[in-house]
Amino acid sequence: MRRALHLTATPCLCGEQATRAVLTRDRYLLPVHVAVCAACGLVHTSRNIQGSALTAFYRDHYRRYYEAMDCLADIEQVHHIHQHNATYRLREIGAVVPKISSVLEIGAGLGYFLRTCRDHGAKEVLGFEPGTLFRHYGMQQLGLGAQLRGDDFLHVDSLPFAPRLIVLFHVFEHLADPRACLRWVAQHMHGDGTLVIEVPDIAGDWRRMGLFHFHLAHRWYFSAQTLSNLLAEEGFAPYFVSRSDTDGIYPGNLRIFAHKGVAGATYPLPHTPIAQQEQAIRNWVRPLSIHNGIPRALWRMARRNRISKA
Ligand SMILES: [Zn+2]
Repeated sequence: MRRALHLTATPCLCGEQATRAVLTRDRYLLPVHVAVCAACGLVHTSRNIQGSALTAFYRDHYRRYYEAMDCLADIEQVHHIHQHNATYRLREIGAVVPKISSVLEIGAGLGYFLRTCRDHGAKEVLGFEPGTLFRHYGMQQLGLGAQLRGDDFLHVDSLPFAPRLIVLFHVFEHLADPRACLRWVAQHMHGDGTLVIEVPDIAGDWRRMGLFHFHLAHRWYFSAQTLSNLLAEEGFAPYFVSRSDTDGIYPGNLRIFAHKGVAGATYPLPHTPIAQQEQAIRNWVRPLSIHNGIPRALWRMARRNRISKA
């Protein structure tokens, strides 16, 4: 995998190239290039995988590389967590969006959220999931069949229905072009629809995870401010923000609900001053920590290799 990584310069979503580097290596000592944009303060990877290499990464490697999942048996060990998260998310979203009749999920994973929506009365559900292993599980084991598709949603011109709910759970921060995603969503979502984006909150309390929070696959590290601003610039009106350090999904989970708004609007949320943002990250990243730094990651990797060879 290390040999396959060809990283090229990635400007910030505001177009700025100038950055202040915060972290150059991840927990496996792979290049990660986390930086703070010198213009808008968005934390992002300033070099990353692009194009066909990125497509292949998500199709074939991502789950193994990121979650050590290779086969059905690996999924069987964690599927109950996915079901738990799906039930929890539907309850949380249902408290804000009263009637969930049609759902589109981008990056649907195993498909548990879609199946849970269907079981709770959603008439139409559809998901896009690029990972072959996860998609096949959802299609076959969860009975989603053709409701789970493997094509790149950005290349899909028409959907079988106009979704009233479009969700991305810990997917948006992986996308090479989040602006293109928002434009696509604006084009396909029902006029009265709701977009829900859930990402790790860079302003959350990540002291326990430390260096483990950063990964090459996470290209953008949003806060409520930077994500709301981006949504507004692309024609959405964010109307509900939920930030939680205790909701059982991640130590810092950010969930933003948005309607279609007016394109090009500015959202008057100030961003965290850049030096302050940089310092905040440095305060909780401890690369040499035996609890959440490089020694821990290498120990875990060695242990995993030992188990898989046994
Ligand atoms: Zn920027």
